[in-house]
Amino acid sequence: MIPAPTNPALVDPFARPISYLRVSVTDRCDFRCTYCMAENMTFLPKAELLSLEELDRLCSTFVRLGVEKLRITGGEPLVRRGIMTFFRAMSRHLETGSLRELTLTTNGSQLARHAEELAACGVRRVNVSLDTLDPEKFARITRWGRLNQVLDGIRAARAAGLRVKINAVALRGFNEDELFRLVEWCGGEGHDLTFIEVMPMGEMGEDTRLHQYWSLNDLRATLAERYSLIELSDRTGGPARYVRLAQTGQRLGFITPLTHNFCESCNRVRLTCTGELFMCLGQEDRADLRQPLRRSPDDAALEEAIRAAIARKPRGHDFDYSRRTVSGQMSRHMSHTGG
Ligand code: SAM
Repeated sequence: MIPAPTNPALVDPFARPISYLRVSVTDRCDFRCTYCMAENMTFLPKAELLSLEELDRLCSTFVRLGVEKLRITGGEPLVRRGIMTFFRAMSRHLETGSLRELTLTTNGSQLARHAEELAACGVRRVNVSLDTLDPEKFARITRWGRLNQVLDGIRAARAAGLRVKINAVALRGFNEDELFRLVEWCGGEGHDLTFIEVMPMGEMGEDTRLHQYWSLNDLRATLAERYSLIELSDRTGGPARYVRLAQTGQRLGFITPLTHNFCESCNRVRLTCTGELFMCLGQEDRADLRQPLRRSPDDAALEEAIRAAIARKPRGHDFDYSRRTVSGQMSRHMSHTGG
């Protein structure tokens, strides 16, 4: 008799295999992007954060259950103390072939220091968030960031052999006038580029919020004044759509995080730095994995909690765009980007 597999892969109630885990490893960041965080943030007490060993145990459990792609995010993942220990630990899953991709989303501020080691750990691509190429505007939007530091980080990433994708939040009245410059710069440097529609977060006046909103439909219409956009059917299981610019051959992505895009092929779940698992970007339901993780050194309870959570994964977003703030996972760990 053939024994039943001990670890059947994770499949949700809508027959979607869960193969992609995004992990926020910290809520801290060295930038204070106006649309993301208040300047005076109160961060979580250390005891609530998963230790690097706990993150390893959790991620390794997901990998054992069929996750093939891990994206590390935050806060700013590269400001977490000892984070390279975690990347080195995860690289063992690339070596065995259980993990196909280990990657991260970063603001780039610490990339110059870490790019080579990331590459040595098997990271092949990084997403770098960059909304403007103007140093003064960069300082204004990030409050604490310096453009040169990020550009140095991007150069270091490329020198280490990493592919770079730039993620730019589309902000009316802010980077509207840089649309073509950003596209051309990415084209010239060989970076992919994805625009993200701004979501209602951060701490700012309601007026600023409303004035900032730049719909990606409008952005695309402006692009189409100069380029012919060829719609691509590329799917990543995430909330991104892609086009190719006929004139340059560049692929551009558009992320409308809250739109009901491709939910039917959603393959992802998101873990916060405190061990909460969100099964859908647009919904509040979450499962606490920290408790089963800490309760026993044996992974059985943890596996059971993960399976129970996946069994609750909803069919799709149920997001009310008219809500004034996005609560839940968005404000704690933006993890929609990248695809
Ligand atoms: N610190 C890392 C970084 O900068 O990429 C990872 C975390 S950051 C929160 C992830 C992404 O979320 C960044 O690309 C950032 O621009 C984006 N983001 C933050 N707030 C947003 C908002 N209100 N609307 C849309 N995207 C946002």
